[in-house]
Amino acid sequence: MNEETRQNLALGLISVRDNQSSPVAPGVTQLTLKFVNVCFVAEPSQDRWVLVDAALPRQEGKIIAWAKRLFGDRPPAAIILTHGHFDHIGSALALSRHWQVPLYAHPLEFPYLTGSQPYPPADASAGGGVISRLSPLFSRGPYHFNEVLSPLPEDGSVPGLDSWRWLATPGHSPGHVSLFRQEDKTLIAGDAFVTVQQESLGQVILQRTRLSGPPRYFTQDWGQAFESIKLLAQLAPAMATTGHGPPVGGALLTNGLEHILNHFHADHMPKHTFMH
Ligand SMILES: [Zn+2]
Ligand SMILES: [Zn+2]
Repeated sequence: MNEETRQNLALGLISVRDNQSSPVAPGVTQLTLKFVNVCFVAEPSQDRWVLVDAALPRQEGKIIAWAKRLFGDRPPAAIILTHGHFDHIGSALALSRHWQVPLYAHPLEFPYLTGSQPYPPADASAGGGVISRLSPLFSRGPYHFNEVLSPLPEDGSVPGLDSWRWLATPGHSPGHVSLFRQEDKTLIAGDAFVTVQQESLGQVILQRTRLSGPPRYFTQDWGQAFESIKLLAQLAPAMATTGHGPPVGGALLTNGLEHILNHFHADHMPKHTFMH
């Protein structure tokens, strides 16, 4: 069995929300594909939109079809990657070529996106459920996006989206970023935290809402991951879409973030990991 076959077996997981969209906030639409979300973000006053993240491989047809439904033939101004894990970049190159638009990511993700370095091995013993045990089958790259990849602007601006800012939220990966719109406190959190317990196959299939720390098997630095969630909680987001699970807002989001921070060691980190 080659790597891709094994990975596809592991990814035979399709959530009950596959190919369904959910409104998040004005101009912000989350689309769930298998067990991963991408996000369409429009800047209505300027007639522009961007795609955040690019799902698993071979999802480009569905993403293009949804984009047509939402924006007609208008291509996005950019594709922004919250980080470079396989489940967020799988269709990135195909989409970038189709729309002739650049991919943007934080420079600290570049080694994994420009062929120089794979992500560290997944932690199969991270616990939380069967997906952790399957995680060594997941692709770790590196990926070869050199021709279309650009660094996110250093000033925190988001290409194509004037009312949004990106924030460094490292930990799950070194160059992980989140996007925030101050005017209505909408947050796109990538995998900094998620709204379904991502390690559990049952929870992923049902997409039962439960705020949870970053997917454990791929998280590189737990100390940074904690600080990043603290930073996001301090923004007091009103509504959040994350890489996995349904959009969450209001008290569920506020209390959920507080709960993660208060129980980070006990409930959200692998048992064998110590923060330094
Ligand atoms: Zn990830
Ligand atoms: Zn993910």
